[in-house]
Amino acid sequence: AQVETLLEVNNIEVIYNSVILVLKGVSLKVPKGGITALLGGNGAGKTTTLKAISNLLHSERGEVTKGSIKYRNDPVHKLDPAEMVKRGVVQVMEGRHCFEHLTIEENLLTGAYTRSDGKAAIARDLEMVYEYFPRLRERRKSQAGYTSGGEQQMCAIGRALMSRPETILLDEPSMGLAPQLVEQIFEIVKSVNENEGVTFLLAEQNTNVALRFAHYGYILESGRVVMDGPAADLRENQDVKEFYLGMS
Ligand code: ATP
Repeated sequence: AQVETLLEVNNIEVIYNSVILVLKGVSLKVPKGGITALLGGNGAGKTTTLKAISNLLHSERGEVTKGSIKYRNDPVHKLDPAEMVKRGVVQVMEGRHCFEHLTIEENLLTGAYTRSDGKAAIARDLEMVYEYFPRLRERRKSQAGYTSGGEQQMCAIGRALMSRPETILLDEPSMGLAPQLVEQIFEIVKSVNENEGVTFLLAEQNTNVALRFAHYGYILESGRVVMDGPAADLRENQDVKEFYLGMS
C-alpha cells in the first residue's frame, strides 16, 4: 500500500538577516508513521530546516525565500508556530529547553496547554509519558534545572508528547549525552513511533545511532541535500561509511 506523505519540503531556500543564504534548495519527504533522519555536520543546516518547518525562523531573523512546505498537502510556511502545533507538529529544540524553575511534572503539563479534551485525557497521557520514561516519574517533583542532561532531554520529549502530536521534529537528541543514554533515548523514540504511531523527523550529527533507528535518511552539506535513501542503504554506502560513520 502507498504510504501517505505527511510533510513535504520542496526546494526551500532560507536566508538569515536578509543576506546569509543558508539553505540552498532543500527538498525532503516525511512519510506518515516513519522515523526520518536529517543528517550532516555542524552548520549543515539541519536546525534551520526544522525551524523552517515549524515556522520558528522569524525570531531568528530568518526567512524562507523560495520553495514550499506542505503538511497534509496544505501549504504551511506562512502559518504561525502555534498553528503548526494545532495541526499536530511540535518541535523539540536542540539543547532540551525545559523550564528550569518548574518541576518535571509541571514541565510536562505545559505541553498540554493547547488541549481542550479535559483533565482525564491529560492525566492519562501523563501516565503514558511516565511509562515511556520511568526516570521522569521518579523525578517528577524535582525542579527541572536540577536534573541531569539526559533527564532534561527526556522531559523535553515528554512535554512534546503531552500535546498529542502527529509529528515530532526532534533536534539533536544525542547532544552532550553519554552513549548509553543516547541509546536509551533512541529506543524510547522507536517505541513511541511503533506504539503511538507518532511520526518523527530528527536532526542528528550522530549518524551512526540515527541510521540504526531511522527508516530513511537525508544527508545535508552546506545547505543542500547531497544524498538520501533508506537507512539500511546509507549504512552500507561507501561514502557514508568514510565521511560519516568514521570507518572505511
Ligand atoms: P548544528 O548542529 O550546529 O545546529 P545545523 O546543521 O543544525 O548545525 P544550522 O544551525 O541550521 O546548522 O546552521 C546552518 C548555518 O546557518 C550555519 O552556518 C549557521 O552559522 C547559520 N545560522 C544559523 N542561525 C543563524 C542566524 N540566526 N543568523 C545567521 N546565521 C545563522
